[in-house]
Amino acid sequence: MAEEVRGPDTTALDEVVTFTSELIRIDTTNRGGGDCRERPAAEYVAERLADAGIEPTLLERTPGRTNVVARIPGTDPSAEALLVHGHLDVVPADPAEWTVHPFSGEVREGVVWGRGAVDMKNMDAMVLAVVRSWARQGIRPRRDIVLAYTADEEASAEDGSGFLADRHAALFEGCTEGISESGAFSFHPQPGTTLYPIAAGERGTAWLKLTAHGRAGHGSKVNAENAVTRLATAVARIGTHTWPVRLTTTVRAALRELAALHGIDADTGLRDLDLLLDKLGPAAALVEPTVRNSANPTMLEAGYKVNVIPGQAVAYIDGRMLPGTEEEFAATMDELTGPDVEWEFHHREVPLEAPVDSPTFAKLRAAVERFDPAGHVVPFTMSGGTDAKQFSRLGITGYGFSPLRLPPDLDYGALFHGVDERVPVDALHFGVRVLDHYLKSA
Ligand SMILES: [Zn+2]
Repeated sequence: MAEEVRGPDTTALDEVVTFTSELIRIDTTNRGGGDCRERPAAEYVAERLADAGIEPTLLERTPGRTNVVARIPGTDPSAEALLVHGHLDVVPADPAEWTVHPFSGEVREGVVWGRGAVDMKNMDAMVLAVVRSWARQGIRPRRDIVLAYTADEEASAEDGSGFLADRHAALFEGCTEGISESGAFSFHPQPGTTLYPIAAGERGTAWLKLTAHGRAGHGSKVNAENAVTRLATAVARIGTHTWPVRLTTTVRAALRELAALHGIDADTGLRDLDLLLDKLGPAAALVEPTVRNSANPTMLEAGYKVNVIPGQAVAYIDGRMLPGTEEEFAATMDELTGPDVEWEFHHREVPLEAPVDSPTFAKLRAAVERFDPAGHVVPFTMSGGTDAKQFSRLGITGYGFSPLRLPPDLDYGALFHGVDERVPVDALHFGVRVLDHYLKSA
């Protein structure tokens, strides 16, 4: 109990600000195609772990693309291990668009500014501050905690979590669950209501390549086997398709909680989803992108001369699949593309679903509510993907949990990959307290 009362020390509250700011100053822009260098940030983290007596292992598939993994032994050897992961790379930022330089890490009027302040050097810093405060206070968590600071999340993950899962699975021995980005930051859909959406799953990625074959020939001739026409017909069908509503366990749980908060009977609401979403107002944004699959045409390639009908035409589709809908997704694509157009997965990642009735979800919920008793925890499914997909191959169930209590007027969601990324110092302090409490007792 003494540990519970103690909480993180003031040094931890100072360090989280310093670490967020200094990590932002280490430019780890990931432009894709291998153009990134996380090594200085990885070394920064490794030094601060080593300082605290936590032995870091640095791992690279490609020189400069460094990952850091460390294990903190728990007090209960029979307990399963918990993975806490965060990526070190960030997406590009154009200084001309920003109020402050995106790699300044400036702390101005209680707010830390810069690329990564939100996604996700804030979480990297919070975890680092927490485990260092444990070392100072002689605290050990119940479960083994494996820390992973990864490279390459913002591109293919091939030099990051994908490489770790493929080549260094032994470092994650015993891990059954993980926490990471995209969840547990406060969201204020209306005055007086504070939601903390905890991610319990991700839609799967289904990037498709469509190829239409036809009869090449002169543009002035009759041609019923025109590849461009065939492709365009299929693309139009896909782009205008209305996907049926498919409520996963997580989305259903989210809708029930949100309905209850709005005083709406959930069963009635679920029978008329459009009406329910309408009544939820801004809170509907939490569930709307994940009540159905999606497929958006994004790229077209065909032809080289206006009077030549090409023999082939190609399109790319950004598709996203909810958990449990993969077969249906494929069957729908067969139907929408028709007999004249072939399709294949250009890049595919599985959908994830984590249980919302698990002891872990209950503990995550309790940790947030302990430090913000007026807040309401709601599970949600991410519309996109994170490193949790790669770690799921090791049997690790992932939750999106990077706790922050934010001011109601800050549109935090818009700051992911956005301009003027920033995080209030108070929010970082809240996150350190919640993570300290959760991770000790997890
Ligand atoms: Zn991220």
